[in-house]
Amino acid sequence: MNTTQIKINELLNEPGCEHNHHKNEQQKNKACKQQAQPGAAQGGCSFDGSMITLVPITDVAHLVHGPIACAGNSWGSRGSLSSGPMLYKKGFTTDLSENDVIFGGEKKLYKAIHEIHKNYNPAAIFVYSTCVTALIGEDLDAVCKVATKKIGIPIIPVNSPGFVGSKNLGNRLGGEALLQHVIGTAEPEFTTPYDINLIGEYNIAGEMWNVLPLFEKLGIRVLAKMTGDARYKEICQAHRAKLNVMICSKALVNVARKMEELYGIPYIEESFYGIEDINRCLRNIAAKLGDSELQERTEQLIAEEAAKLDIELAPYRDRLKGKRVVLYTGGVKSWSIVSAAKDLGMEVVATSTKKSTEEDKARIKELLGKDGITLEKGNPQEILRIIRETQADMLIAGGRNQYTALKARIPFLDINQERHHAYAGYQGMIEMAREIDEALYSPIWEQVRKPAPWDVEIV
Ligand code: SF4
Repeated sequence: MNTTQIKINELLNEPGCEHNHHKNEQQKNKACKQQAQPGAAQGGCSFDGSMITLVPITDVAHLVHGPIACAGNSWGSRGSLSSGPMLYKKGFTTDLSENDVIFGGEKKLYKAIHEIHKNYNPAAIFVYSTCVTALIGEDLDAVCKVATKKIGIPIIPVNSPGFVGSKNLGNRLGGEALLQHVIGTAEPEFTTPYDINLIGEYNIAGEMWNVLPLFEKLGIRVLAKMTGDARYKEICQAHRAKLNVMICSKALVNVARKMEELYGIPYIEESFYGIEDINRCLRNIAAKLGDSELQERTEQLIAEEAAKLDIELAPYRDRLKGKRVVLYTGGVKSWSIVSAAKDLGMEVVATSTKKSTEEDKARIKELLGKDGITLEKGNPQEILRIIRETQADMLIAGGRNQYTALKARIPFLDINQERHHAYAGYQGMIEMAREIDEALYSPIWEQVRKPAPWDVEIV
């Protein structure tokens, strides 16, 4: 797959993305269609985005063809966990030098592929292009094709150099590599009417492991996980699922839509955060799979889990009731965490609509009510202003905003990809309640809110 301008335009105008729905030509969200501007890679380039999408496949080697800094830039920044192979955690790079830039690095790449195969015996090797290798015109597709023939395992080119655009575009380019080279290349031993794929779930902090047992109890088989804790083979077989469940809609919406076109697999968008949302997710999956017995079992499971949760959350609900939260995150989480906070009796006074689709925004409005504040673009000053004005008790946001919370002297909870706790599923609700409670009631706040010793008058 060469990253041609046509391919990039197609992904930027993805028809499955809500940004491009319900709007006329002039109104369409410019951020989706705009080509990358200098500095656009700040916060993650396209190469980074494709790594985020594909690195959670645990039994393959991920080889970065470029200068060592590209691999260093993205390595280990995400907490996707594995229940088995750890090969995905190894950082492989061709470490191009000035000489390679002048004379070409294809031979070095070919050698690196051989070496990885010999020493690590991976299920496949994903080879990532970077700005430098794309600019000097390295032919990744040709090298991968020859190497596949020679060594007999799939060598997958991922053409997503940083300069083509944002992290989000890179997510989709990673998805394109799966569509073109992986999905549909192997058949499962057997299929069932209850086979589903999870798309856009990366098993951050092991979140997926809170949800898989629920599917198991219901007799639903997760055929392929894209890509959290996935094995290469399961993604090859993903085309035999009966339903695709998208968890982070914007990231891989192109994969879900094209799988519907190519293999007739319908897709739905769901969230695993908050009691209401996980209930709805299970109900929608059961309804889509169209089996009344499964629907009955689902209702039974929801009732059992709700009863258990009521007991386990009771002490937290008492302590968290009425606490005011400013939420600053992106996409689906901007409403799904509102719903989770509400389940705990907390009040979300403001949330961001950054990276949210039109549908996300409608849900946010409904959940926040008329007094809720939405932040289209936030920077630390803006977040601090909102915290002051709303007299919020806590900030729930991505790791980079922890210093904003510290400046405001309020507790902070990391909700984005660097988080170390699993908040998905029913079990995740208890974990989230515990974490919020610990952050809010930490004795440190009493101390940091005291005036500094040099500001206190000595009498
Ligand atoms: S691919 Fe380009 S933008 Fe991304 S880390 Fe490498 S040099 Fe930087």
